[in-house]
Amino acid sequence: MIIPFISRLSDHEQQQWIDTIDPLLENASVCRLDQLTPKQQQQCQLAIVANPDPQQLAALTNLIWVHSVWAGVERMLAELPDTSFRIVRLIDPVLTQTMVEAVLAWTLYLHRDMPAYRHQQNQRLWQQRPYTPATERCIGILGLGQLGLASAQSLQQLGFPVSGWSRTPRDNSGLPGFHGQDGLLELLAQSDIVVNLLPLTPETRHLMDQQRLSACKRGAALINFGRGGTVDDEALLQALDSGQLCHAVLDVFDQEPLPRDHPFWTHPHITLLPHISAPTTVASASRIVADNINRYQQTGELPPTVDRQKGY
Ligand code: NAP
Repeated sequence: MIIPFISRLSDHEQQQWIDTIDPLLENASVCRLDQLTPKQQQQCQLAIVANPDPQQLAALTNLIWVHSVWAGVERMLAELPDTSFRIVRLIDPVLTQTMVEAVLAWTLYLHRDMPAYRHQQNQRLWQQRPYTPATERCIGILGLGQLGLASAQSLQQLGFPVSGWSRTPRDNSGLPGFHGQDGLLELLAQSDIVVNLLPLTPETRHLMDQQRLSACKRGAALINFGRGGTVDDEALLQALDSGQLCHAVLDVFDQEPLPRDHPFWTHPHITLLPHISAPTTVASASRIVADNINRYQQTGELPPTVDRQKGY
C-alpha cells in the first residue's frame, strides 16, 4: 500500500515526517503526493495529513480514511465539509503529558502570583503578597477529554479542588463534573482559574463571550490552551480592563501568528505564548500513526474517528 503524506508544511518538515513514519510501517510506504501518478493517487485509500490542502485531498477519489498527525482537526473539518472519508486525529500519551506539564506550569504561575511579582520587580518594589493554599484555589477545566481529564487529575494531586465541564455527563472522572449551559455557569462562578481545553467547534466558538466572562468569579484568571476561537477577544479585553478577570495566559489565537498590532501583545494582564503548550512530537506521533495503520492493515479495524456532526 502506498500512503501519501499531504500537508502545508515546509518540504523539510514534510520529509522529516515521511522519514520517521515510513520505517515503522509493516506493509506500506509513505511518500509525497507529487511522487504518485494520477492513477496511483486514485487508488489511495488512506492518507496521512497535517492541515492538508483540500484540493490535493480531492485528487484522492477513493479515500476511506485519513490520519492527522495533529490533535486538533477543526480547520480540516471546516475546509472539507462535503467529503465522506473518516478522519482519525492524533491521540498521543506523550502529547497529553506535555499538555499536563503546561497546565501545571501556568496554573502554578497564576496560583503563586507570578504576574504580580514580575510587575513589582519592574518597580523595584519589595512586597510580600498574601499566600493562598492550593486547597483554597478552585480550578475549572473546560473539556474533559484526553487533555482535560489528565490535566485535572494532575492538578488534584497537587491539592487543588478541580471541577470539569464536558458536553455529556461524566460519572467516572473522579472529579465534580458539570455539563450543559447551566453547568457551565455554575463551574465559572466557583472557579478561581479557568483552563480551556475544548476543541473548536460550531458550539464552542466564542463560548467565552461577554456573558460567560461576566459569569466568572470576580478576579478569576483564564488559561486558554484549547483554541483561540473559543474566546471572544473583545470581551476578554473588556473583562481584563474592568478587573472582572485578573489575568489571562493565552497560547492559541483566532489568527496565528497573532498580528503584530493586536492589543493582546502589550496588555499588562496578558501572558502571551506562541502556541507552544503541547507541540506534537514527531517521534511519538509517528509511532502512534504507524501502529494505527499496521493494525488497520492486519484487522481492517479503524481507530476511533472524528464525529463530523459534533465537530471533534
Ligand atoms: P477530546 O479528547 O476530543 O476532548 C474534548 C472534550 O471537550 C470532551 O470532554 C468533550 O465532551 C468536550 N466538549 C466538546 N464540545 C463541547 C461542548 N460543546 N460543550 C462542552 N464540552 C464539550 O480532545 P483533546 O484531545 O482533549 O483536545 C482538546 C483540544 O485541545 C483539541 O481539540 C485542540 O484544539 C487543543 N490542543 C491544543 C494544543 C496546544 O498546543 N495548544 C495541543 C493539542 C491540542 P465529551 O466528553 O462529552 O465528549
